[in-house]
Amino acid sequence: MIKILRPECPYPVALQNGNYKHHLNKDALKKANFDKCMYCESKISQIDFAHIEHFKPKAENKFPELEFVWDNLGYACPKCNNAKSDKFHNDTQYIDPYSENPTDYFFAAGALLLIKNGSERSEISIRDIELNRPELLERRLDKITEIQKSINACYRTTNEALKTAALNELELESSTEKEYSFFIAALLKAHAA
Ligand SMILES: [Zn+2]
Repeated sequence: MIKILRPECPYPVALQNGNYKHHLNKDALKKANFDKCMYCESKISQIDFAHIEHFKPKAENKFPELEFVWDNLGYACPKCNNAKSDKFHNDTQYIDPYSENPTDYFFAAGALLLIKNGSERSEISIRDIELNRPELLERRLDKITEIQKSINACYRTTNEALKTAALNELELESSTEKEYSFFIAALLKAHAA
């Protein structure tokens, strides 16, 4: 999970008219998220159709008054959205990447997303949204393995200028628009240390 800058709502009229899926609004969230799920950082168009996620569930007995509130809407993959479903804990709310910095709550160890500083909110987010589900671990591991191979090639080159240039190039893999950037950033940081 990484920090996402919430865009302005481009078409608030749609929300006022009871439509939270209007394509202009959905596109704005998609762009702000770099087409990645707000929770698991999977590129959505590569795996499935994007869902408009209600951070606080719109269910009748939960927060129906927030169904058409822009600040409650996010962009998520169906797997995370379905896992989270209508769950919500008022005392231990899920980490919201639009309003908080996930690096304060999680850290990456290889392909695993781990809890920082014993945070109960991190623990419940990982548990309920299934942020270490097997297919996610597999996809992250594939990416990590690919980057690790490139890192090895950089370190094995004898040309120092080439090595520095290649390592700088690899840094781009941890930029926010890249899939699983949270994990790649941790991998690159471990090498830089
Ligand atoms: Zn997801």
